[in-house]
Amino acid sequence: MNKVILLNKRPVGKPTLNDFKFIEEENPSIKDGEILLKTTYVSVDPYLRGRMSDAKSYVPPFQLNEPIQSGLIAEVSESKNPDYKVGDFVSGGLDWKEYQASTGIGLTKITDTTVRLSAYLGILGMTGLTAYLGLTEIGSPKKGETLVVSGAAGAVGSIVGQIGKLLGCRVIGLAGTDEKTAVLKSKFGFDEAINYKTTLDMKKAIQDAAPDGVDIYFDNVGGEISDAVLANINKFGRVAVCGAISLYNETEVQMGPRVQPILIKNSVLMQGFIVSNYAAKFPQAVQQLNNWLKEGKLTYSETLIEGFDQIPQAFINLFEGKNEGKMIVKI
Ligand code: NAP
Repeated sequence: MNKVILLNKRPVGKPTLNDFKFIEEENPSIKDGEILLKTTYVSVDPYLRGRMSDAKSYVPPFQLNEPIQSGLIAEVSESKNPDYKVGDFVSGGLDWKEYQASTGIGLTKITDTTVRLSAYLGILGMTGLTAYLGLTEIGSPKKGETLVVSGAAGAVGSIVGQIGKLLGCRVIGLAGTDEKTAVLKSKFGFDEAINYKTTLDMKKAIQDAAPDGVDIYFDNVGGEISDAVLANINKFGRVAVCGAISLYNETEVQMGPRVQPILIKNSVLMQGFIVSNYAAKFPQAVQQLNNWLKEGKLTYSETLIEGFDQIPQAFINLFEGKNEGKMIVKI
């Protein structure tokens, strides 16, 4: 039998295991032109929380009692499609199923196996693209500028900070534990790191860490942390609004300071983005990330959790900061 994970209920507040349903179905068989895929790695991502609600967004919501989908790496275990042979690996948006049939449309064949397969869900996948394109397209970093990154020890944030350093910025990371702030400096080369959970006055802490002010803010979390960063933004500053994880589980969003006067007084550009806005630049961006990785200029962390049944818990753990780097489930 084939294990499948469905959306059982739409989460209210923080997701719980009751929001997911485990079922078993007959093993799939394939028709001419199809391949049978065996799931090997599953990406769990904060944006999936949005798809579990039925609010209008940039991607359609998941349907109740239907499989949840995310980025997967899978191995071709049977093929009736001349473009794929048994043993090939692919990545793409697929169902949370142990096995599934596919025509191959929308999947990317992994040809370079000199890097870890799971990296195609992280630094060489959506995560790396989000970091590189959000920072370069909106942040427009220049040598000597100060970059602040929230969610800095996570998948996207840890790559943003390193790219900021490669492009000559002074980089300050914000994260939720002392272990994470230590790793930001020792492993990822951040100049300063602040634990937002133990710092009483974040506005002052950022001011101390960035005495010349903040030129670029790469925002992964939103909320009060971002209010404190914006209070330190420089004239002609740029704010790349990538994510707002601190707000994803809110049932009522608190009012923060109104940002318009800050933006006007400082001529600040604040822009939200979805990585797919830059799809035309993906090949060039992946090439750059791969070059940096192979030259040893970029590194990455993964939090690997093992077992198909652990996928929902791994997803929930994102909202408790239990990951360092990319959260991935190995099947
Ligand atoms: P991630 O940072 O690896 O994981 C989530 C991290 O967020 C946790 O480890 C935790 O770290 C932090 N967090 C959780 N709850 C928080 C809260 N209430 N306040 C502050 N921080 C909290 O996830 P990711 O995949 O790299 O994604 C980061 C952000 O980018 C998310 O908001 C995501 O939605 C967004 N994103 C956007 C795009 C796009 O196209 N715009 C693409 C990918 C991701 P701490 O221990 O530091 O709290």
